Amino acid sequence: MTTVGILGGGQLARMMALSGAPLGLRFLVMDNVADACAGQFAPMVVGDYRDEAALTEFASKVDVATFDFENVPAESAHWLTDRVPVFPKPRALATAQDRLAEKTLFQELGIPVPPFAAIDTREQLDAAIAQIGAPCILKTRRLGYDGKGQFRIKTPADAGAAWDALGAQAGKVGLILEGFVHFQRELSVVAVRGRDGEFRTWPLTENWHVDGVLSASLAPARVDEATAQTAFEYARKLAESLDYVGVFALELFCRDGELLANELAPRVHNSGHWTIEGSETSQFQNHLRAVLGLPLGDTRMVGMACMLNWIGQMPDALPVLREPGGHWHDYGKEPRAGRKVGHATLRADDAGALAATLRRVGDALERADQVAPVIAALAR
Ligand code: ATP
Ligand code: MG
Ligand code: MG
Repeated sequence: MTTVGILGGGQLARMMALSGAPLGLRFLVMDNVADACAGQFAPMVVGDYRDEAALTEFASKVDVATFDFENVPAESAHWLTDRVPVFPKPRALATAQDRLAEKTLFQELGIPVPPFAAIDTREQLDAAIAQIGAPCILKTRRLGYDGKGQFRIKTPADAGAAWDALGAQAGKVGLILEGFVHFQRELSVVAVRGRDGEFRTWPLTENWHVDGVLSASLAPARVDEATAQTAFEYARKLAESLDYVGVFALELFCRDGELLANELAPRVHNSGHWTIEGSETSQFQNHLRAVLGLPLGDTRMVGMACMLNWIGQMPDALPVLREPGGHWHDYGKEPRAGRKVGHATLRADDAGALAATLRRVGDALERADQVAPVIAALAR
């Protein structure tokens, strides 16, 4: 019996455990809170990720370890690798944890990025705004997620407010200034690489964010084949340079036909949730297959899929369950403003049918705003 250890016990770990059950896998989840939602399906070790006693217990009970949470301290990941196989490897994790290291690697690999500069002082911020130009975004280098730890600078006069908001972080998690990209679309490559180097991607995904949080995803993205191939090539280069094992997502901005890399998520990704029902093998199962050295499953999809995130609280399930291609995911979390508590995936054979499904669901749930950009994309 193989036990997979997952550091982080959120919905990603939960969906991983659910997808691994048919493979006969056992799971052990480690999280710093006792009510983490993966704990409803897997035994847990509750403890801080730096707590050696908790890590020792975790390591002693698992055959392989992976992550649902990209901000596990790199030292803890290194500590674990001396005791148990860990995938993805700590180097890949460390690179993806730091926006500066990540963007520097993109550049080295010839993957275009928005202009950026490391910021340690207020003077450097002013100089970088002058060089990069406004609008731009000041971000923490580490620990940001769902758009947290970011300040949008519209004009150079906003520099003071940006520094008031984030300056204290300069000496802690570091800061980076990025040029604001006036993109037409956001895209993500969800990809998997096996222990033997086999590489596969799911069809390119198109994403919509609201207030920095993913709201909807559509696959396949409504872009031309050449754009998709370029995106896949960037993801492959990245995976090979990091000797990556497992699933990851590469977030991209598409501006006037050009792709610019935003960030690398070294884990299964929200924009890949549609793969559960929308593709032959889900991102969760392929991540497990990759870290266990098993053959990777096919990533092809049939028809089209749209995922809608439920933020704050769960809506009524019935309008989705009534749809022939409607699938419901309730993460079993307490409602809280801004929290991802579940999602729905709608599948259909073609763009017209998917748009009709989204229109019905959007109307019934009073979420016309959420489905509108996806319906517009389907009409392109
Ligand atoms: P995630 O939850 O995806 O990990 P995060 O907190 O790491 O989010 P980013 O992905 O950097 O944050 O930013 C969140 C969103 O904010 C992006 O998906 C995009 O919509 C917008 N955004 C971020 N950086 C830029 C930029 N340089 N130009 C334009 N929009 C941006
Ligand atoms: Mg991120
Ligand atoms: Mg992001």
